Amino acid sequence: MDLGDRLTTQQSSLQNNQDHKERSPVILIESNNHGRQRAYHRQKLVLVWSAMRHFAQELEADNWQVTYEVATDFATPLTKWIKDNQITELQITTPCDRPFLKHIQSLDLINLNCEITFLSDRHFLWSGEEFVTWAKSRKRMLMEDFYRAGRKRFNILMEDQKPLGGKWNYDQQNRKPPKKNLQTPKPLIFEPDEITQEVLKWVKQEQFSDYGKLEPFNWGVTRKQAQEVLAYFVEHCLPQFGTYQDAMITGEYTMWHGLISPYLNLGLLEPMEVIKAIETAYHEQELPLNSVEGFIRQVMGWREYMHGIYFLQDEEYTESNWFKHHRPLPAFYWDANKTDMNCLHETLTQVEETAYGHHIQRLMVLNNFALIAGVNPQELENWFHSAFIDAYDWVMQTNVLGMGQFADGGLLASKPYAASANYINKMSDYCGNCKYNHRDRTGEQACPFNFFYWDFLNRHRDRLKSLGRMNLVLSHIKRISEPELAEITALANKWWSEELSSQ
Ligand SMILES: Cc1cc2nc3c(=O)[nH]c(=O)nc-3n(C[C@H](O)[C@H](O)[C@H](O)COP(=O)(O)OP(=O)(O)OC[C@H]3O[C@@H](n4cnc5c(N)ncnc54)[C@H](O)[C@@H]3O)c2cc1C
Ligand code: SF4
Repeated sequence: MDLGDRLTTQQSSLQNNQDHKERSPVILIESNNHGRQRAYHRQKLVLVWSAMRHFAQELEADNWQVTYEVATDFATPLTKWIKDNQITELQITTPCDRPFLKHIQSLDLINLNCEITFLSDRHFLWSGEEFVTWAKSRKRMLMEDFYRAGRKRFNILMEDQKPLGGKWNYDQQNRKPPKKNLQTPKPLIFEPDEITQEVLKWVKQEQFSDYGKLEPFNWGVTRKQAQEVLAYFVEHCLPQFGTYQDAMITGEYTMWHGLISPYLNLGLLEPMEVIKAIETAYHEQELPLNSVEGFIRQVMGWREYMHGIYFLQDEEYTESNWFKHHRPLPAFYWDANKTDMNCLHETLTQVEETAYGHHIQRLMVLNNFALIAGVNPQELENWFHSAFIDAYDWVMQTNVLGMGQFADGGLLASKPYAASANYINKMSDYCGNCKYNHRDRTGEQACPFNFFYWDFLNRHRDRLKSLGRMNLVLSHIKRISEPELAEITALANKWWSEELSSQ
């Protein structure tokens, strides 16, 4: 039994029993209570439950004895199944998400004479324990160092024990601003089959959540479809991936991104098969190294690193709030029509429609605004966890609290990802269609990203001084006159009083 994110026959609990399937029944439970824990995007619920139902069918076809329950909670059908099948040992791949692990540990199975055995999780290239060993052997825990260790350990993009092309990192060739008339590839989409149609009906009928559009639902729900998405990405998107990795264009939801995180996080794709597919394409098709290396760094570096840091930290990490930000989440995060800031309106509309946004939309629009406006990191984390198709506890804590909000005080990032409208204007076409002026930080048309950015730096001046990398940015505040700074603060306060009175 696992959280619905280990939908792979490679998981330990299935691998261990491969040779005696007849003695090893399997149970999958859709818990309605779990689905109501937060206001999940409705497409996320459909994705997970439809993928679970498809996976159950695949297991049955592979001669496993499968019980599939749609129930209110986990415990009731599990207890009944243990009794009915006289199960004496429940084997579970150790859940990666701490809240789910605790839930399983709290199940009282002793009275049923059933033991729980936790098996090792093979879902990541580095197990949690291996990451801890790596981290303890070092003075600093930089992602770049970890990534290089991974390249060496798994012999990826290496030649004679040196990085291919002579450099570890080709980021300088990546992240170009968008040009006019870019021809972006259309994402690969799937029509819902009968099973997915049933789940769509179920999620609609039971009103689990009213966040997010339910349809069109175009996500893949099987391993085969996930593999098609990967192949499509390699063929159509990878060559340009690096160059426009950070660009944002109105109405272009996916650019050259892979859309593979939902499948990786569900277990429908394995990280090493993704990395190998990219590396093979590089050799066979002579693809640009900046794109290939850039993508491998995301999966082999960032994804593994985020998981490792989550494993390394204890539960207190969840509560971290270095800036002591306590503003509530603005209402427009749940309803894009409630904001007239075009970048946020565009991005939030996209998330409502698809449950997806690419990395820079997440980091530099949605997260950045909350950071500079002083939103409580835990409220923001709850929103990200609810809204995104690929969100799980392990990936949320580190990305939203650590990378996004700097709530851990710099464990993960060396400085906060805070930016004014200048960045958004450079990397997108959003500002051209906005009622605010991206150049103004005061006055009638001042862009809120500007007055909040300067107010953020001003408010946290002393705290930020302790981070060496912020000194240059902080020195710019000195160029702003006291009256202008006072106006900036007044604009920020006025914005919040209007927002609070409308909530
Ligand atoms: C505030 C914030 C919230 C995020 N929330 C999530 C989330 O809920 N789930 C999630 O998987 N990723 C999350 N990320 C990381 C990253 O934005 C997504 O993995 C990526 O946008 C997924 O889309 P893609 O597959 O099209 O990405 P691409 O850019 O095409 O592919 C890169 C792949 O590398 C991996 N990756 C890259 N960076 C990260 C990272 N920081 N953490 C984990 N994996 C990474 C992902 O598997 C991703 O599929 C978040 C980042 C930020 C800043
Ligand atoms: S002007 Fe400001 S609010 Fe408008 S799109 Fe640009 S950054 Fe966003």
